[in-house]
Amino acid sequence: MRNRRAALAAIAGAASLALTLSACGQDSEGGSNEDKGSAKGGTIGIAMPTKSSERWIADGKNVVKNLEAKGYKTKLVYGEDDPDQQVSQIENLITQGVKALIVAAIDNKSLNNVLQQAADADIPVIAYDRLILGSKNVDYYASFDNTKVGELQANYIVDKLGLKDGKGPFNIELFAGSNDDNNTKYFFNGAWSVLKPYVDSKKLVVQSGQTGLTQVTTLRWDGATAQKRMDDILTKSYQSKKVDAVLSPYDGISIGILSALKSDDYGSKSKPLPVVTGQDAELASVKSIIAGEQTQTVYKDTRELAKVASTMVDDVLNGKKPQTNDTKTYDNGAKVVPAYLLQPVSVDKSNYKQILVDGGYYTESELN
Ligand code: BGC
Repeated sequence: MRNRRAALAAIAGAASLALTLSACGQDSEGGSNEDKGSAKGGTIGIAMPTKSSERWIADGKNVVKNLEAKGYKTKLVYGEDDPDQQVSQIENLITQGVKALIVAAIDNKSLNNVLQQAADADIPVIAYDRLILGSKNVDYYASFDNTKVGELQANYIVDKLGLKDGKGPFNIELFAGSNDDNNTKYFFNGAWSVLKPYVDSKKLVVQSGQTGLTQVTTLRWDGATAQKRMDDILTKSYQSKKVDAVLSPYDGISIGILSALKSDDYGSKSKPLPVVTGQDAELASVKSIIAGEQTQTVYKDTRELAKVASTMVDDVLNGKKPQTNDTKTYDNGAKVVPAYLLQPVSVDKSNYKQILVDGGYYTESELN
């Protein structure tokens, strides 16, 4: 049987040839029909990171739905935020003979060996939402514009505080995601590129002094970890001061931050809650936004991401070159992984109805 991975490399490396060939009405790879025959009705393995966050539950369901609609069977596993568990789950999927893998990594560097096993078994791999680092055995990457996520959060803070109108100085604290998630630095750097000029001009002051990415990460995106860090910051740096904004990268972290703030009397008449950002438009956080607690979130339509990843799998298994729109940004250390990036959208109280309800992501009754 043809080596699918060699075929993939040929496809990726010879885009112009592929174009020419398809212009002549031929398959870009002679083996595509054979591949199609063998993959049809086959099983696709999907490895998701955790069920502790709604977004990943929705991602899993949506990927399964899309693949089934294309005639595949699916095996969906969740690694419960344990990198070793995810590795053994993927090993099992390979042993069970899946035709392709869709993986949202827990620890972006822990998968090299298991992805080599996938490559040896001729199983293509799509990195889902989070890029897998250090391995050449990642064929495509489906995600959102992760830098833009951070920019949207930071620009929201800038607008809400009126920094462009010269208002300030204001106090801000910074939180980032898990240090083993490749997205974390894109989110944080995107946000920091917007905030740093105001920190430099002292219109924004980080009273804790914690501004470096390594000082502000939150292992495994854990809300309780963030709550504890916010508690400590409030105790040490805000005895006689008030925090005006908190950059939070994810709704679950925002919930932890808000708990710490509320325990310190924020949210009362004399001490309004600061601007608190977020990400994922998770149900509890959208409700919190409607209730006037969390201020903003970044919505990423997981239905669209699932569609992109499923189409990539189907294309690869049929010898077609998947559509990509970014072939430069996502260097994983072993190769630049061709990516398709979707656009994130900032959501707050003013537009949640239009974006989330009219867009069919939530019903009005789910939110009330
Ligand atoms: C995802 C975010 C999510 C975070 C925590 C990131 O990799 O891109 O959407 O908020 O993980 O689950």
